[in-house]
Amino acid sequence: MNLEDISAVKSILSQPQKIVIIPHKNPDGDAMGACLGLWGFLKSIGQTVHVIAPNDYPKFLKWMPGNESVVNFEWDNGEAQKLLDEASVIFTLDFNDFSRTGQMESVLKEKQADFIMIDHHQQPSDYAKVTYSDVNMSSTCEMVYNFIDLLGETDRITAAIATNLYTGIMTDTGSFKYRSTSSKTHRVVADLIDRGADNMEIHRQVFDTNSPSRLHLLGVALSNMVILPEYKTAYITLSQEELDANDFKKGDTEGFVNYGLTLEGIIFALIFIENKDEGIIKISLRSIGEFSVNEFARKHFSGGGHDNAAGGKSELSMEETLKRFNEILTTYKSQLNP
Ligand code: 5GP
Ligand code: MN
Repeated sequence: MNLEDISAVKSILSQPQKIVIIPHKNPDGDAMGACLGLWGFLKSIGQTVHVIAPNDYPKFLKWMPGNESVVNFEWDNGEAQKLLDEASVIFTLDFNDFSRTGQMESVLKEKQADFIMIDHHQQPSDYAKVTYSDVNMSSTCEMVYNFIDLLGETDRITAAIATNLYTGIMTDTGSFKYRSTSSKTHRVVADLIDRGADNMEIHRQVFDTNSPSRLHLLGVALSNMVILPEYKTAYITLSQEELDANDFKKGDTEGFVNYGLTLEGIIFALIFIENKDEGIIKISLRSIGEFSVNEFARKHFSGGGHDNAAGGKSELSMEETLKRFNEILTTYKSQLNP
């Protein structure tokens, strides 16, 4: 954010506004942490503010402070539409294009309000009055911290706000190990702990609350893994049948894709997950080093994300999707294994 942006934000927030905050569809820890952290801050300066999630999110995020006040666009559609109708300011967090909000896209496209984007994904769309976009940031939560800092208001960061922001930084950095984790990230996290984030408890709530069925599903996923050493690639598949047989709940497959990258010599990992309801195969992609999964997902699977973590989808069957993927892979041999 430049000085002009900061004064634009200050001027907007100097008036009482009706504010809505929106994360991307299938919100993760960073998206929910950023929304709830910003929600706490905006309430503390006297604004009227609501978080509207496009759809449900995993149970391992539902302990977060303020979670009970989140409006679900799918389940509480009447209330969500009303809040959107009334909104004068809309913050969009942790996504770069309205299409990432699923069913909310058409509403947002028509909506006249001051949009403020805070996001770290590549190629941000140009819909916001203020666009705070930085692809080098570890997480949107780190950016929300910076946003509050740029407004000169870090003293308003309560333990609840700190807890939300810590959660998102932790989940989006793979517990502080991805390349985007900077010394500044650690300084922000240190300040959040000083302000009341209980780091041990947050780790426990997110990572150590598995159900037995989730671990069984992980077992299925790992035994389905296909390793292609000539492409330094490993991929996992999960069919709808396998999900159903293991009592699949939203969020259960979070993190599975990363197991491929723990294999020595593997630099490209994917998971293909069948979703019969939506008629798609949802794909998560990860890489180590220079190979850009953002470009790969954009080009071949209607997706995108970051250089080393992206998502996409396929409307073909699992079998056809894998056939197509294996064909595409042959054209990347020189990039993946020169
Ligand atoms: P995940 O694989 O954890 O769902 O997502 C990894 C990254 O890619 C996240 O930053 C996420 O926001 C982004 N992403 C996931 N799915 C999609 C998609 O369908 N389209 C785009 N543009 N980005 C996605
Ligand atoms: Mn993020």
